[in-house]
Amino acid sequence: MRRKLAAGNWKMNGTGAALSELDLLAAKHPSPSLDILICPPAPLLHRAASAVENTSVSVGGQDCHADASGAHTGDISAEMLKDAGASAVILGHSERRVDHGERNEDVRAKARTVMDAGLQAIICVGESLEQRDVANTLDIIGGQLSGSIPDQSTGENLVVAYEPIWAIGTGKVPTLEEIGEVHDFIRARLERRFGEGVGRSVRLLYGGSVKPGNATEIFGVSNVDGALVGGASLKAEDFSGIIQALESI
Ligand code: PEP
Repeated sequence: MRRKLAAGNWKMNGTGAALSELDLLAAKHPSPSLDILICPPAPLLHRAASAVENTSVSVGGQDCHADASGAHTGDISAEMLKDAGASAVILGHSERRVDHGERNEDVRAKARTVMDAGLQAIICVGESLEQRDVANTLDIIGGQLSGSIPDQSTGENLVVAYEPIWAIGTGKVPTLEEIGEVHDFIRARLERRFGEGVGRSVRLLYGGSVKPGNATEIFGVSNVDGALVGGASLKAEDFSGIIQALESI
């Protein structure tokens, strides 16, 4: 059985005042039947980790450098994120792939460092609208999976998030059939590469305009083990509605 995961990505939002949302979130879910993760901006990570200490909420990073240390001004290593309290790191988010030119091999190198540090890599994949329109979504996803996921992956150190680029922050959501087709495809690819045991143990998240109002139907789709949530993770009340929907499945 895969434990469900509700992961929030605050992106470049929030200063110290936003930490109160973590207190509220933890208070709303003292003993959930699933994992709850919030990835705040890096400067908040250490304070966020302290705020959620001894609660059901974990914290993670939004990106890291592929090297363990060195002359990389402005960058952050996986070890630094771990030291600040992170248990997971989002990698290959489309905003990194598109805005910062990250290629599959960059994501894979980062994922190796994250896994070597004992953290969980949440590797994002997803197609653009143009790619979906010419009907090669599964080719794109297949290439991202084989290029971005390192060989050392297991059900413990890897989570895959399917995030269609056109659904992120737009209010647009694929049909349930479309979500199911991609999640089943990702599961089959993981089983083929890593064997049934590992392939079936990796959690698959859907991300892209998940809200309390649409979460229940999305979580009912096969091979959807939770969500990676942007906008609706910023307020404890909204994220809590998504957590409740996931718990009720
Ligand atoms: C995201 O950026 O990972 C995301 C899913 O954003 P939103 O929920 O706001 O669409």
